Amino acid sequence: MIKTLLIANRGEIAVRIIRSARAMGIRTVAVFSDADASAMHVRQADEAHPIGPAPAAQSYLRGDVILDVARRTGAQAIHPGYGFLSENAEFAQACADAAIAFIGPPPAAIRAMGSKAESKRLMVAAGVPTVPGYHGEAQDDALLAAEAARIGFPVLIKASAGGGGKGMRPVFSADAFAAELAGARREAASAFGDDRMLLEKYLQRPRHVEVQVFGDSHGRITHLHTRDCSLQRRHQKVIEEAPAPNLPDALRERLHRAAEDAARAVGYVNAGTVEFIVEGDDAFFLEMNTRLQVEHPVTEMITGLDLVEWQLRGAAGEALPAGWPPEPQGHAVEARLYAEDPAQDFRPSVGPLRRLRLPWPEGGVRVDAGVEEGDAVTSHYDPMIAKLIMGGMTRDGALDGLGQALRAVEIAGVTTNLALLRRLLEQPDFRAGRFDTGLIARHAGTLLAPPRPAPAAVLAVTVADWLRNQEGSPAHPWSRSDGWRLHGPAEIASRWESQGVVRQAVAWTARDGLSVSIDGGAAITVALATHLPAVTATVDGVAHRVEIDAEDNREWRVTFDGEPHALFWLDPYAPAGQEAAADNHLTAPIPGRVVAVLVAAGDAVKRGDPLILLEAMKTEIRIAAPRDGVVEALGCAAGDSVDAGAELISLLA
Ligand code: ADP
Ligand code: ADP
Ligand code: MG
Repeated sequence: MIKTLLIANRGEIAVRIIRSARAMGIRTVAVFSDADASAMHVRQADEAHPIGPAPAAQSYLRGDVILDVARRTGAQAIHPGYGFLSENAEFAQACADAAIAFIGPPPAAIRAMGSKAESKRLMVAAGVPTVPGYHGEAQDDALLAAEAARIGFPVLIKASAGGGGKGMRPVFSADAFAAELAGARREAASAFGDDRMLLEKYLQRPRHVEVQVFGDSHGRITHLHTRDCSLQRRHQKVIEEAPAPNLPDALRERLHRAAEDAARAVGYVNAGTVEFIVEGDDAFFLEMNTRLQVEHPVTEMITGLDLVEWQLRGAAGEALPAGWPPEPQGHAVEARLYAEDPAQDFRPSVGPLRRLRLPWPEGGVRVDAGVEEGDAVTSHYDPMIAKLIMGGMTRDGALDGLGQALRAVEIAGVTTNLALLRRLLEQPDFRAGRFDTGLIARHAGTLLAPPRPAPAAVLAVTVADWLRNQEGSPAHPWSRSDGWRLHGPAEIASRWESQGVVRQAVAWTARDGLSVSIDGGAAITVALATHLPAVTATVDGVAHRVEIDAEDNREWRVTFDGEPHALFWLDPYAPAGQEAAADNHLTAPIPGRVVAVLVAAGDAVKRGDPLILLEAMKTEIRIAAPRDGVVEALGCAAGDSVDAGAELISLLA
C-alpha cells in the first residue's frame, strides 16, 4: 500500500497527480527547484522539499537528491510525471534498488523503448509495421547520405534518443542532406548528449494516431482506445482528441492489436502510449512513450477512468478489472495553451502572468493548470500554461464546448498561442475531420497571423471608458476650471496600442454621448450604460453588450460582440523612439546559448535572413533580420551563454 507518494515533477502534471493521490487518501510530497519555491504544486502538496537551483539538470533531473527526499519522508513510491526522469531507466532502477516503487514500467521496458532506432528493430521482430527507413548502428555521414538516397526523398532525420520534436528534420533533396544532418546532430547532442540518428521515409500527409495501453503486474495488457494528435507545430502536439475520428473499424482494430503487441514485446506494465503514423490504410509504429502522456485526460474523459489512480493501484499489485477496456463514451478534445509566439516560429515567451483567467469548471471544461495569475513563465521549463479539456456526446459538441471555453480565457504578460487555438477550433478541415499533421503549416497564413488589433468601435468604447474613469478626478480635462473648455469643443487626444498597432484617438462630447475619431476617421458616437457586470455600449445608435475590465487605467480588456481585445493606453510623456531603436539592436528574447553566428560585421542582410542561432529551452531559435540593412557589430560569438535582453547584433539602416 502506498501511504506517501513523492511527485518528482512540477507544473500542471505535478498538480494533477496530487489531486488523484489526495482523493485516494495518499499523503503527497512535492520537490521544487529554487525557481519554484512558491509554485502551485508546492502550495498544494502536503509537504515540499527543495532539491536545487533552477536548471533542471541541477534539480528535477537529480535522481539521487530526489531519492534522498523520498527516504527522508518515508515515501513508498515516486511518480515521475512526464518529461524529466519519467523515461530514465537508471532512475527507475535506482528506485527499485531503494525499495521505492517507481510509478511506471520496469527499467527493462523503458530501456527497450528508449531508443527510437532500437525499439524499431524490436518492433520489426515482433511483427509490428514500421515506417521504411534506416535504423542501423553505423552512423557515418556518407553512409547515412547513401541510405537517404536509397529510401528516397523526402526523408526525415530523427534523433534516436529524441523526444519533444528535437533533433528532427525533414530533408527534401540530396543536396540539403548534409547541412540538415549536421543541424540535427547538433540539436540532439545538446539536448540528449547523444547524436545518433535514424532515417525514415517522410510521409506527406499522415495522421498521428496513438493508442493508450495499460498493463498490470499479472501479465495482462489492454488498450484503452485511440487518440488523434495530428494538429502539431514543429512536430509537437497542440490539440488532441479521443477517440481518433474517421478511422475505419478494421484499421482501428489493427491499431489496438499492434499497440498491445508492442507493449507485450517489452513486458510492459503500467500506463504507456504506442504512437503510430497513419496514411490511407497503412499504420506504422513511431515510438512508445513509456509514461503517462500530456494528453491522457482525453482518454480519461471517454473512459471515465482516472489513469493516475490506476497507475497507483497497478503499482500496488492490483489486477486490471475484467471488463477492461471500457466502452468509450462520446468524444473528448484537449487544447494545450502555451506561452509562445506562433508568428515567431513558436518561440517561447517568458514573463510574469500579469493576468490569467481560465474558464470555470462549471461549464463542463476540465482545466489542468500548474500556474495562476501572478506566477511567471520562466525560461527554465516547458512554457505550457494550462490544458483545457472538454467532453461531449459528439465530436462537434466537444469542439464547440472547447471553443466556448477558449473564448473565456484572458492572458496578459506573455504572448500565447490562444488565437491559434481559437482559430483551429473553427478550421473547416479540422471540423470536418479531414486533417493530417501538416494542417497548421499549410494554413499558416491564416492560423498563425498575430491577432488583429481591436477595431475602431472597440477603441472608441475604450476611450469612453477611460474618460469616464477619470471623471471627477482632478486629472480629468473636463474637470478643469481654468476656462480652457470655453474655446470651442474640448478635444482630448490619446494614443493606444493593440496587438502591436498604435493608433491615435481624438474625443469630444456630443449631445448623445461621446464622439471619437480614430486616426482622423469619421466620428463614432459612443454612450456607455452600466448594469454590472456588463456594460451596454451604444455605438452609432446600435446597442452592444460589452465587458470592460481596466487595470491601473492603463490596460483594458474589452469583450465586444463576444470577441476579447486587449488595449493599452500609451503615456504621452514616456520617452519616445524606443521602438525604433529596438529594431537596430537585436537582443536575446530568452536566456540561451549561441549555437552559430551566420553573418559578420559589414555584411549586407535582407529582411528575414537568419543572423544568429540560439539554443534556448527546448528549441533552436533563429534570430532573423527585421529589415534590410548592414551588420554594424556583433555582440556575441558561437558558444556564448547569453541572458534575456543581451544585445546579440546591431544593424545599420
Ligand atoms: P507528449 O506526446 O506527451 O507530448 P513529448 O515527447 O512531446 O510527449 O513530451 C512530453 C512533455 O515532456 C513535454 O511537453 C515536456 O513538458 C516534457 N519534455 C519533453 N522533453 C523534455 C526534456 N528534454 N526535458 C524536460 N522535459 C521534457
Ligand atoms: P517525438 O519523440 O518528438 O514525439 P516522434 O517520432 O513521435 O517523435 O514524431 C513526432 C511527430 O513527427 C509525429 O507525430 C509526426 O507528426 C511526425 N513524424 C514522425 N515521423 C514521421 C514520418 N516518418 N513522416 C512524417 N511525419 C513524421
Ligand atoms: Mg512522439
